[in-house]
Amino acid sequence: MLSAVEALAHLLKNASPVNEEETVPTQAALGRVLAKDIASQVDVPPLDNTSMDGYAVRSSEITQVGTVLRMAQRIPAGSVGQSLETGTIARIFTGAPIPQGADAVVMQEDCIVQDQNELVQINSVPNAGQWIRRRGEDLTAGKLALTAGSLLRPQQLGVAASAGYAQLPVKRKVRVAAFFTGDELSLPGEPLKPGGIYNSNRDTLLGVIRSLGCEATDYGIVPDRLEATRAALRTASANHDLIITSGGVSVGEEDHIKPAVNAEGRLDLWQIGIKPGKPLAFGAVRKQQQSDQETWFIGLPGNPVSSFVTFLLFVRPFILKLQGRSDLSSPSYLMRADFDWLKPDRRNEFLRVKINAQGGLDLFPNQSSGVLTSAAWGDGLLDCPAGQGFKKGDMVRYIPFSGLLS
Ligand code: AMP
Ligand code: MG
Repeated sequence: MLSAVEALAHLLKNASPVNEEETVPTQAALGRVLAKDIASQVDVPPLDNTSMDGYAVRSSEITQVGTVLRMAQRIPAGSVGQSLETGTIARIFTGAPIPQGADAVVMQEDCIVQDQNELVQINSVPNAGQWIRRRGEDLTAGKLALTAGSLLRPQQLGVAASAGYAQLPVKRKVRVAAFFTGDELSLPGEPLKPGGIYNSNRDTLLGVIRSLGCEATDYGIVPDRLEATRAALRTASANHDLIITSGGVSVGEEDHIKPAVNAEGRLDLWQIGIKPGKPLAFGAVRKQQQSDQETWFIGLPGNPVSSFVTFLLFVRPFILKLQGRSDLSSPSYLMRADFDWLKPDRRNEFLRVKINAQGGLDLFPNQSSGVLTSAAWGDGLLDCPAGQGFKKGDMVRYIPFSGLLS
């Protein structure tokens, strides 16, 4: 039996990032992976500017409260003022450049305008530099703004735009094919067959694949027959980087994944010491057109919670590596358990839990691997090491689903 850590290390050792890159408008790059480091084209902000509406002043001229000075110019955002003459101040608005000679801004709330706007009484003594945002305090021209392998979230797009980029080099999307094995499976919308169950893995797994920014192709339900499984593998191998399946990974007579992948490529069947989960098939399928090339294959267990959890823990980092992402980790935090867990499993267990209003973790009462409502109710997994129970109040490791869906 492999530990979760060993299984993941083995998967990641095999994967390497897709090579192809494309250039897309910054606007369209949300959720993509940056392919190259980018350096800022400009200083951000480009000039010293005010962070307040108020008056740009020479701080040395205001040594006492109540000083009155003449307002000699007005500088709205987007315009550049004149050099500040001695004994004068400038009306200035947030974002406008600080005029030459000024070294501080007094906010308008601290000033009283006298004499038809000409004279202004200043009721606070400014410190040099106050309310000034310095040129280049965010980025300087030539400085690394974003690194290759970054996931482009809205914040990264904003940084790219501030650095002057209308387009960004990104990795091409990873292409994932999926099919779902089981004679018992029906599609929602069709009547359930006797002894049947609806195919829920399709929506869960394709949903996660798409949340990770991959192109997903659904090859549907595949019956529990060797030939049908082999045919599905051959079709799915074309034009995809990775094939994901659910079900059929045990070694019963009705489990055809192992012989099918072995016939069409190569496969290792692992027993991983986790719950839910355990069997995971990892291998590759020869591409039909170019037999020297392969499409990665990962076969997940059929139980809905098992396939969801093993996807998040193992397939997600594998896909991230194919995408060229630099951070492959599953974010996790120490949190307080608000329940006892006194009979731990011999396997590393991933319990479906939810953060309560007191900042602790509550447990979903039914932790069966077939009860998918546990994952819909929960907001994450409690990573319980093999054989280690805990008591209410103990700190435990929590992995939020939100950190695993991008
Ligand atoms: P298997 O891994 O094929 O032995 O399936 C394990 C269990 O998961 C069985 O109870 C199956 O009916 C169920 N199962 C397999 N595939 C799916 C699916 N796509 N959707 C819902 N349940 C499934
Ligand atoms: Mg099955």
